[in-house]
Amino acid sequence: MCRSIASYEPAHKAGLFVLKGGTMNKVQILTICQACSGQAYVPVGEEVSPTGAKYIRHRRCFFCDGTGKQTHWVDLDEFARMLTAIAVEEQET
Ligand SMILES: [Zn+2]
Repeated sequence: MCRSIASYEPAHKAGLFVLKGGTMNKVQILTICQACSGQAYVPVGEEVSPTGAKYIRHRRCFFCDGTGKQTHWVDLDEFARMLTAIAVEEQET
């Protein structure tokens, strides 16, 4: 539970979804996929094309299924702290 504020930073840039109904006080947030840094594709190595040119081959990131984003569920207490952190961040910049 002691994650740094920096780890929340991509959340408000990527998007936000609130779960409605039920008894779960959870909020779903989207963050940048850390495996591919939001690129959705990751390099798998160098290849040579039929024309002899070298290029870096990419494959779809299977951590985020090629979306470049990851979803997380956070409870409302944690979400409130995130909002505070974002507000402070925006005041400082
Ligand atoms: Zn990814």
